[in-house]
Amino acid sequence: MRVAELRERLLGLGALPEHAQRVLRDWVQCAPHERGRRRPADYLPKPVREALPAIDAELAKLARVVSEHPGEDGSARLLVALADGQTIESVLLPRDGVCVSSQVGCAVGCRFCMTGQSGLLRQVTSGEIVAQVVLARRRRPVKKVVFMGMGEPAHNLDNVMEAIDLLGVEAGISHKNLVFSTVGDARVFERLPQGRVKPALALSLHTTKPALRAELLPRAPRIDPRDLVEEGERYARLSCYPIQYQWTLLDGVNDGQDELDALVALLRGKYAVLNMIPYNANDGLPFRRPSWEKARAIAAHLHGRGILTKLRDSAGQDVDGGCGQLRARALDGGAQ
Ligand code: SF4
Repeated sequence: MRVAELRERLLGLGALPEHAQRVLRDWVQCAPHERGRRRPADYLPKPVREALPAIDAELAKLARVVSEHPGEDGSARLLVALADGQTIESVLLPRDGVCVSSQVGCAVGCRFCMTGQSGLLRQVTSGEIVAQVVLARRRRPVKKVVFMGMGEPAHNLDNVMEAIDLLGVEAGISHKNLVFSTVGDARVFERLPQGRVKPALALSLHTTKPALRAELLPRAPRIDPRDLVEEGERYARLSCYPIQYQWTLLDGVNDGQDELDALVALLRGKYAVLNMIPYNANDGLPFRRPSWEKARAIAAHLHGRGILTKLRDSAGQDVDGGCGQLRARALDGGAQ
């Protein structure tokens, strides 16, 4: 179910636009209708009131938690089943965040990512995206939603933008705390500025070298990292919020001095934060995680040269490249 379809259905039953908004708000805020300040009976037309139990039951079926896997840092990975039996992953993040999936599988095929190995299986609807936030809110407060789980949000723009609009307007989540993460796609730079909720933007850079980028992200648009950063800079100025550049640190692949020098030249003076994420090793994928000491030295070096750099661990805030492992294990029969 898409959010737009649900809204249309409510309007078709005779709800006014503000009534439909209220029903959607109750859903994303996890406020049972009967606990609101005004009961549905006070303001909703009878056909809408009568349809609400069935609608609530349908919303509850959009997504359910199959298994929960707590991490040491306060995060928890959730394996989530959708109504058709497909599974995706959500991650409860420390400090009131949740990372959601926007696709089942992913067509970009990043060499270091488990999700990318399966290709794209289907889109996740806006209803299913919001349902992941609702599941998270039933477990803990959610003040931040990052679109860094399974899938490339740019390949499912209509659903992702619809979810962002609802979360920004009705769920009380500030636009800076809605993070759209992408490998970079011209459509993103056209659509994001048009939305009434302009999310923060995370751009997966991973390397300054076009040829290596084409190798690591084989089906990402062939955009030169310099052009990507230029587009990012324009959006950062427009949205009044810095771009988060993502760099999955792969031992011996993109951690050389040549990359660091080029990175400084690329990002110096930009309205940006660089998130360095040491790779989380995946069985069967040919990449290694650098030592934490090495990663710390790289981050300190960049910081010392004027690049605001944050070293993060993929178990928590950033799961880019780490996602897809739970689902893969579940398909093998291991995570249930
Ligand atoms: Fe897709 Fe992100 Fe995985 Fe790349 S890292 S394959 S964009 S899910």
